[in-house]
Amino acid sequence: MCIFVYMAKLGAFHSLPARIYNLGSKAAADLDFTREALWRRMDASMGRKAVQIPVFLVNEAQMDELSPPKRKRALDPRYVKEWLNRQEERPPDINQLDFNSWEAFVHVVALGLYVRHPQPEQAVVDKGDPSVQEPEAVQAYQAAEGPHIYLCCERIVRRGEQEGISPNLVLDKVYYHELGHALLDVPKSLWDTEDDPYPTPWGRTIEESAANYIAYQRFEGMEALLVQRLMASQPAEYLGYMAFTQAPLTELPASKPVSWARNDEQHYRWEAYEFYQKWPAERSELNWSISNLSIWEWEEWLRAWHRRGWWQPRHFASWINEVYQTGPGTLWTWVRHGEIPRLLPSPLFWGWNGIPQEDKIDLGPANMRLWRWYKAQGAPRAPEYVRPLEAFALYLLREGVNA
Ligand SMILES: [Zn+2]
Repeated sequence: MCIFVYMAKLGAFHSLPARIYNLGSKAAADLDFTREALWRRMDASMGRKAVQIPVFLVNEAQMDELSPPKRKRALDPRYVKEWLNRQEERPPDINQLDFNSWEAFVHVVALGLYVRHPQPEQAVVDKGDPSVQEPEAVQAYQAAEGPHIYLCCERIVRRGEQEGISPNLVLDKVYYHELGHALLDVPKSLWDTEDDPYPTPWGRTIEESAANYIAYQRFEGMEALLVQRLMASQPAEYLGYMAFTQAPLTELPASKPVSWARNDEQHYRWEAYEFYQKWPAERSELNWSISNLSIWEWEEWLRAWHRRGWWQPRHFASWINEVYQTGPGTLWTWVRHGEIPRLLPSPLFWGWNGIPQEDKIDLGPANMRLWRWYKAQGAPRAPEYVRPLEAFALYLLREGVNA
């Protein structure tokens, strides 16, 4: 008898693109997964992750059981702001913001969670509300074919009420953010292994800013602003989502690994710090023209740039594609006609003079690719890899807390 009720509910979920299971969350009834907007906002790559990865709706007790202790603390933006201001040593060492300074951290509760290799625990099943827990959800959870996404409906609904924002909009933001982690993951995943860069302050900052960038990109107009309001109250690691689109992460490694003497390393740290300090986050009125620069001079600039390790044209073609949505061939044609596209690559970029930034230029996809590439290499910790990441993360933090 009960089976019909159960099948009817599944029937509703079966028409959805993703598999969504209620593992024991009563507040799931207050959220609507059948809205067209939730699915329409996804692009193809996010959609592909959404159809692959099952979503489990869980209550607060279940979510606390699921989220690993190291993900329950995050940087307090006020602390980070003060810390940045009182740094006399330049550049500041982002690793000082580690778990040994307690006052730097705030306790966070998870609204969503992406888990690459789920390890089913009976306690999670037991803590589910039996009146809403679906047998099929328990089965799918125990089968543990990862990855999984967990969403805590109780907290999502409460967050919406606190902010006076529709809980469904909070749901969408949280879901896209977790799908963002899936998009940032790599086939040979480091997730929760010894090599996972997530526990480091720079790793967490890049990962969470990138995931928020991916989520934010999905919204437009008033909804985008409401999502920004939700993000404004997040920990410091999450706030660099705008900066993530605005400045480039340099190609890694910045030099041949294990080639840096201590001086080289110090020099790089300083240059990288200066570079991001001068990087214009907002559109600047700087007037510039390089139309009188010959193609030869332009190439000279690029070579100089390359020598300093800022940008290695190894992946030039994909970089150009991601940023300008055109191939290098077309770009060179523009350049020959004196039409150098705004932003990189430009000699002025190299000259630290600041570049006027077009709104439509989005460095996010190129930065995402580099971050994934780094993880796919096993996240090497040689300074030639890590210093550029630290410099970029420091920039994300600074822009995030000061925005
Ligand atoms: Zn996250």
